[in-house]
Amino acid sequence: MYFYGTTGVNKKGHLEIGGVDAVELAESFGTPLYVYDVALIRERARGFKLTFEEQNVKAQVAYASKAFSTVAMVQLAEEEGLSLDVVSGGELFTALKAGFPAEKIHFHGNNKSRQELEMAIDNGIGCIVIDNFYEIELLKSICTEKQPKEINVLLRVTPGIEAHTHDYILTGQEDSKFGFDLQNGQAEQALTEALEYPYFHVLGLHCHIGSQIFETTGFLLAAQKIVEKLAEWKNKYAFQTQVLNLGGGFGIRYTKEDEPIAPSQYVSEIIKEVKSLNEQYDLTMPEIWIEPGRSLVGDAGVTLYKTGSSKDVPGVRRYLAVDGGMSDNIRPALYQAKYEAVLANKPLAQAKETVSIAGKCCESGDMLIWDLPLPESEDEDILAVFCTGAYGYSMANNYNRIPRPPVVFVENGKASLVVKRESYEDLLRLDLPLK
Ligand SMILES: *Cc1c(COP(=O)(O)O)cnc(C)c1O
Repeated sequence: MYFYGTTGVNKKGHLEIGGVDAVELAESFGTPLYVYDVALIRERARGFKLTFEEQNVKAQVAYASKAFSTVAMVQLAEEEGLSLDVVSGGELFTALKAGFPAEKIHFHGNNKSRQELEMAIDNGIGCIVIDNFYEIELLKSICTEKQPKEINVLLRVTPGIEAHTHDYILTGQEDSKFGFDLQNGQAEQALTEALEYPYFHVLGLHCHIGSQIFETTGFLLAAQKIVEKLAEWKNKYAFQTQVLNLGGGFGIRYTKEDEPIAPSQYVSEIIKEVKSLNEQYDLTMPEIWIEPGRSLVGDAGVTLYKTGSSKDVPGVRRYLAVDGGMSDNIRPALYQAKYEAVLANKPLAQAKETVSIAGKCCESGDMLIWDLPLPESEDEDILAVFCTGAYGYSMANNYNRIPRPPVVFVENGKASLVVKRESYEDLLRLDLPLK
């Protein structure tokens, strides 16, 4: 078994995270339970920031909070000197309630409502990443009404590069719901409209080419496509970008098949390429912004479940069910995401059988892991599923009226509850009786 961060095995032979016994965590807080290795989140954040600092490149590392947004997580991001991406009024509200500095918040999304944009402007957030022409008009109408001081905007462009896990696709025009196309003239039109409008301060351009990406090529190609256009626009419109935001999508290791590269390697290759492109086209070096989500919190999260019923299908497989499932981790059902797991009460025991881990929801597709080698399991073992820190809690739902699990942060031998377990009463808090 491969352990990472502060995860290991303690003297009792139990899984330990952040110096805390995982079996004891399950006993004290119940299961299912999301556990986060705070030291690992800090390490990842520093990994992204350090290379920019060492090379003296002006930068912002913005945590894409959609990966895991809670008050405590937002506060941790602030402690680590990160900026913050939000994509909805709810994520923005969370950030503001957590006391996150508004000027370091960036607002994304392809259909921000008038109310959400007003909330962002009223609270003086750092920048709005404009996605489409509709949003330009909406913002203009809000500015006419509110007459704010200038608002900082980035324009989201689609550079015609789609990066996938192990490859990238060059498409002339990108068929995506996000952003202004760089190749067909839409991005240029958006730029000229934004530059003409007195309430906008155009900070620069943004792109986000995909997710769970394991190589730098896609980022470098995106930078190349954008800087080529910037060179053109410098001559045509005297526009010099202050910010080049290359988005997130840095891959993590879910299973042994995944081979991620270090945050510092992404950053140093991006810096090298952007520097060389700017020299080549005789442009001033912009600030580089990046937006890691998954890669900051993904492998720092572990979900603990209790095992329950099992079913043998002779000659086919054994199903072993846990007390959670697609309600706390929808990724396997949504996109065949793969995970590894151990029994937290005996993580080093020899594997004796291959089982498939089922959730408890009323869907045949509610499977967490297919064909997992496990030691002989007994009733009420604690199953620890690794790398559930991103898009787990944030995509959790109440299907089958299953309350959402709590979240515990562990660090230096201490556990602190940062999200309470939902109660049955919580489930009913919005319900009204039939009149
Ligand atoms: C989702 C998203 C990210 C983060 O993606 P990860 O794969 O979690 O790193 C960054 N930027 C934008 C605009 C996004 O939509």
